[in-house]
Order: sequence, then structure tokens, then C-alpha cells
Amino acid sequence: MALVPFDNRDGWIWLDGHFVPWRDANLHILSHAMHYSSAVFEGERMYDGAIFELEAHTRRLFRSAEILDFQLPYSEAEINAASTEVCRRNGFTDCYVRPIAWRGAEQMGVSALHSNTHVAIAAWEWPKYFDANKLRRGIRLRWATYCRPPASAAPTAAKAAGLYMICTIEKNAAERLGFDDSLMLDSEGNIAETTGANIFFIRGGAIYTPTPDCFLDGITRRTVIEIARSQGRQVIETRIRPEELATFSECFVTGTAAEVTPVGQVGEQIYTPSDITFDLMERYGALVRLGAGDTCKMELAIANR
Ligand code: PMP
Repeated sequence: MALVPFDNRDGWIWLDGHFVPWRDANLHILSHAMHYSSAVFEGERMYDGAIFELEAHTRRLFRSAEILDFQLPYSEAEINAASTEVCRRNGFTDCYVRPIAWRGAEQMGVSALHSNTHVAIAAWEWPKYFDANKLRRGIRLRWATYCRPPASAAPTAAKAAGLYMICTIEKNAAERLGFDDSLMLDSEGNIAETTGANIFFIRGGAIYTPTPDCFLDGITRRTVIEIARSQGRQVIETRIRPEELATFSECFVTGTAAEVTPVGQVGEQIYTPSDITFDLMERYGALVRLGAGDTCKMELAIANR
């Protein structure tokens, strides 16, 4: 598949309050963000013309910036409106949306007390994060070499660019070795998450997922927990040890890009994706297209398929 570079496309990007032609959405090489990773971002999906959980994503963007000690020079309402408008301007009704806020080039050095914050929002078409053919059999995860830093060592509640440094190393290693992604442990050896998604396991009808104490409590994660609980399923947030993997019957990951993706292998452990995972996949797929997060409407939508 030929890659279309992200700096050489047609379309519009929202940059600091204005829509600019795609190729003109540039920043200076001496931007603080480029050197010191002072950038926070979001990953959102628009389905049928509505961005799923837009307000929650925008809130997290602002919260991430606050954690990194900078502020966006816009209101959440302005960012919400611009996010939807950027999709519309590009003619998309189903796409991925990437807002990003970063420190500019006013100041060079670690200190950034006098730097300005810039904001951009781009959108592009991105059908599935993982190869659609793999979705039924499940993706293959290898064990990561790096662990997630503890909350005492990094701003782990923020969706901050710097936290992805080890994720890119681990994702590259996975793909080079023929896997789809890497599964990371926390600093105490408990299962944490993959490089861009949260993880769930199933045992005896109950759903287990790591407590998000040093990684993102994903918006998809919370949605899937809500769906499962609304069906009367038990969802347990707990510490999960790698030695427990053989006690589970199914495994899946969640994320805005990954949606609900079955896992067929973690290291040596093989899983066969089955009913509960496929059911949650379908329910999540139905819910995101309703926009409102209304599980009653979702039940109806599934019943009427
Ligand atoms: N963990 C990481 C490291 C991620 O990049 C993502 C994707 N944003 C998630 C978890 C899932 O978060 P969400 O469901 O909010 O997209």
C-alpha cells in the first residue's frame, strides 16, 4: 500500500483559530514542543457525521494540557465546534480526528513560562486500526521490553506526546517481529495496556481489566465497561499478573482507533475470540453510530439489525 505522506495532502486543517490549506499547517523547528515534548493531543472518531464522545475527548485535551502546566487559549466549546467543522470542511462523515496543543517557539530551553500555546485540529479517513482480516482471529501481542512509568515518574493521566516515546519503540518492535502490537506491564509487573489501547480479559462470563493507575483510563474502555454492566455482566478492575493469562478464555483491546479488537495471542498464550468479545464489538459498533451514548437505543438498534 502506497503511503500518502501526512504533510502532502489536500484539505483543510484548523490551526490557531483559522482553517488553513493542509500543506500550510506548519510550525517552526525551534518550537518548544519539538524539543521538550510539550504537546498533548486527542484521538477521536466521527461516525455518521457525529464525533463519538466529543465533549469527553475535548475535556481530556484540556485536562492533559493542565497536567503539563499549560493552557489552551480557547474554550472547550470552541474546540468542540472546530473539531466538527474540520470534518465537515474536508467532506468527511466518517473519519479520525486529531486535535493537538503544543508550546510554541517564543522560548528555547527547558523553561516555558513565557511560551504561547498553539492548537491544531486535523481529520483524515482511517477505516480500521488493525487489519480487518485479523479482527475475527484476533491480533497477536508480544511482551514489551519497556514498562509503563509509574504515576510518580510521569504525568500518566495526560495524553501527552512524550509518553508515546516508548510506545513507538514497542510498536515498531512488534511489527518488525511479525506481531500486531506489544503489551506493556507497569513498573510492578502487572499487566497495563498496549501501545495505544486498553486491555480486557474474560473468565467465566466476568470481564477483568487492569486498574488504570499509571495509564489512560480510555474513553472506549469506560464505554465498554458501561455496555457490559448494562447487560448485567460483572466487570472487575483489578491488578492482573502475567501468570494469570492461562486462566482467561478471551482477551480484547479497546481504544478510539482500535475500537473493540479481539486478541488471539499474548506472548505464548493463545486465545480464541468468542461470543462475549464479538457481542461487545457489535454493541460498541452500534453505540458509536447512535452518537448519544443511549444504551436503550442501542438495544433496539441491535434487535432491529
Ligand atoms: N492507552 C493509550 C496509550 C492510548 O493511546 C489510547 C488511545 N487514546 C488508549 C489507551 C485508549 O484511549 P481511548 O479509548 O480514550 O481512545
